[in-house]
Amino acid sequence: MEIELFRQSKATIGDYEPIVGRSTIEELRVLADKLSGKIIQNINSTATGGGVAEILEHLVPLLNQLGVDTRWQVMQGSDEFFEVTKKFHNALHGKSESISDEDFSLFLEVSRRNLNELSFFGDLIFIHDPQPVALISKKKEIGRRWLWRCHIDASNPDKRVWDFLRGFVVDYDAAVFSAPNFAQRLPIRQFLISPSIDPLSDKNKELSSKTIDSVLAKYGLTLDKPMIVQVSRFDRLKDPLGVIRAFEMAKKSVECQLVLAGGTAADDPESEVVLDEVRERAEGSKDIHVLLIPPGSDIEINALQRAATVVLQKSLKEGFGLTISEALWKGKPVVASAVGGIPLQIHNKLTGLLCHTVEGAAYALRQLLSNPQYARQLGENGREHVKQNFLITRHIKDYLLLFLSLEHPEDVFYL
Ligand code: UDP
Repeated sequence: MEIELFRQSKATIGDYEPIVGRSTIEELRVLADKLSGKIIQNINSTATGGGVAEILEHLVPLLNQLGVDTRWQVMQGSDEFFEVTKKFHNALHGKSESISDEDFSLFLEVSRRNLNELSFFGDLIFIHDPQPVALISKKKEIGRRWLWRCHIDASNPDKRVWDFLRGFVVDYDAAVFSAPNFAQRLPIRQFLISPSIDPLSDKNKELSSKTIDSVLAKYGLTLDKPMIVQVSRFDRLKDPLGVIRAFEMAKKSVECQLVLAGGTAADDPESEVVLDEVRERAEGSKDIHVLLIPPGSDIEINALQRAATVVLQKSLKEGFGLTISEALWKGKPVVASAVGGIPLQIHNKLTGLLCHTVEGAAYALRQLLSNPQYARQLGENGREHVKQNFLITRHIKDYLLLFLSLEHPEDVFYL
């Protein structure tokens, strides 16, 4: 299925100039020019929900604007397939999962179906995450350059699942990971590229206070108490129950309210169950607001992040955690777990506060809620850190260099 980019930012590449400077944009144009005539074909497993879709939605149109013909397709999976791939996802994050031989067979069966149904037209085929990894089998038939992009924290994967996936990964021309400690022993080239946010998208652009107020009113929220916000899919790895416990501990000494806002992802069968658990746990607490946000509610998420006094991201595992850069870009003080790609964004006590436990999260929340000046300074530092490292223009540059280095393996490119 070819994805129609209905949520894409209306920004043109020139609109980024005031934020990142003219030379950055010129550099992108020069690099993109070298890829003219090539087709980049992205394939992932969901058009909405989660960081991968979020990134592709903004990268694909901007690459096209730069003259690089970039397409995005979504593989088709059944509910059972996504149950298996969710187990793979959890297992790559190091959780022990019972995965049967039938699960592996089902994965291969759905992969075979997609091999027959998808058309492979890219000069460079860019596969995202484990769900479509087995499509590499097509390479024997059609050749081309193949890239596997792992968005997951694979630093400590379950061996059985990694060995299975690795059997496919080794046939790619290169693999891309988000952080140095996720890199694996592989006989192919590996690149480290961190994700990014789009400062001009509906999710991140400036909002008027009128818009923010109207979103708060829509969800029945008021700012009569400092507001702690976590935006995440309802997934156990985002630790929503731990968030509630940390909030309750912090609230014993500082008056505050909690907003847990999130949706479900089309390729995540667990989210409904987790949402029910969270709602049950929050029942009866008038200061805990559990909001189910439909896909495409970018302005709403933006407004909630901007309305937050402190943004929390208490994940147990995290590939990167786009929500953190989103919050920092808005100048918000952030408390986040020291897992996965989060420490790339949060340098403790400089661009936010890191935590390791529920108690640690509660302590950090109390610190920020009771010291607004410190909180403001961390937020300001965080915004600068994101500006330097995690905006979409840096990401486009890294990808262009990566594509070029695969097209011209004999040349040297510096990422
Ligand atoms: N997001 C959203 N709606 C939701 C929950 C999350 O739009 O209900 C967005 C969030 O703002 C971020 C992305 O989805 O842009 C989540 O990316 P992240 O890397 O934080 O986590 P992932 O979901 O990929 O594990």
